[in-house]
Amino acid sequence: NQRILLASRPTGAPTIADFTIDTGPVAEPAIGQVLLKILYLSLDPYMRGRMSAAKSYAAPVEIGAVMEGGTVARVVKSRNPAFAEGDVVLSHSGWQNYALSNGNELRKLDPAVAPVTTALGVLGMPGFTAWAGLANIGQPKPGETLVVAAASGAVGSVVGQIARLRGARAVGIAGGPEKCAYLQDELGFDAAIDHRSPDLNERLAKACPQGIDVYFENVGGKVWDAVFPLLNPFARIPVCGLIAQYNARPGQAAQQDRLPDVMRTVLTKSLLIRGFIQREFVHQREQFYKEVSEWIASGALRYREDIVAGLERAPEAFIGLLEGRNFGKLIVRVGED
Ligand code: NDP
Repeated sequence: NQRILLASRPTGAPTIADFTIDTGPVAEPAIGQVLLKILYLSLDPYMRGRMSAAKSYAAPVEIGAVMEGGTVARVVKSRNPAFAEGDVVLSHSGWQNYALSNGNELRKLDPAVAPVTTALGVLGMPGFTAWAGLANIGQPKPGETLVVAAASGAVGSVVGQIARLRGARAVGIAGGPEKCAYLQDELGFDAAIDHRSPDLNERLAKACPQGIDVYFENVGGKVWDAVFPLLNPFARIPVCGLIAQYNARPGQAAQQDRLPDVMRTVLTKSLLIRGFIQREFVHQREQFYKEVSEWIASGALRYREDIVAGLERAPEAFIGLLEGRNFGKLIVRVGED
């Protein structure tokens, strides 16, 4: 069994040296357990937080422990009556080839319903994050303008498309002309803006002539700065992620104290700024699954996956995710399907 372990806690951006590969025997399942062969591993921005010891909503990965992560796996040995050999399941087995499970957290997947990789993306945690952040906080209405960054990614692509399905205008922000073209030509966003362009603020203002009613915050940093002056009274801001600052070094803060200006605007424009972690809404998962799988089946909602082959490539692919090198939901193909 090959496993990728956390070797050290990064300061700033992670490097390959923060990970190490370990090889050992494949474990045998005890009574009640199943042995899983990992087929696909999901790589997600939250893993940067698990590499750090800083206090967060979840415990960090210990040094020397297997990196955490969502996976799609096949049951190859079963000593648990609820699972048969050959079953394909969603698990949280981390960055490795094989894992044991007592079955409690496994969800069976039906490859006939949707490609199993979608359980890590559009029909999984990231898709649910988009859906739940909009259903509970963003609540886009017909004619309103929604802005989302990291818009070609796993969460952002679903946010923009749902906003349009709800009758709102969707403006996407993404890194580079290829991602922007994809947003407009393939996903139907009303406008797409490259966050690397020097006149980001002017372009965004032009793309949002009626202001911004919903800002789905995935990024922070200069995108927030561009969005903030354009917010309309009663705008809703689901704070989902701040990827632009995940690699910030401790103490690396803004040059000036912007809190007074932000708070004044929150007050005078009656803004709703509400952070969330998707599992808060776990009771709505069935509703999400039903609605989004119907949209996928009808072609109303599209998705893109960026699949990298080989577990040993997970560290470099993950480092790339934090720099925008992925294009679509980032997944590692770990074993043969
Ligand atoms: P993506 O598939 O969108 O990949 C990450 C993308 O972030 C990159 O491709 C890049 O896109 C963009 N990015 C990286 N650095 C920067 C930067 N400095 N400035 C602007 N954009 C940047 O990832 P996900 O869809 O999985 O995650 C999107 C966000 O949602 C993250 O912030 C994540 O932490 C958050 N999230 C929150 C959850 C919750 O429960 N609250 C659950 C799941 C995700 P580009 O090239 O376009 O810049």
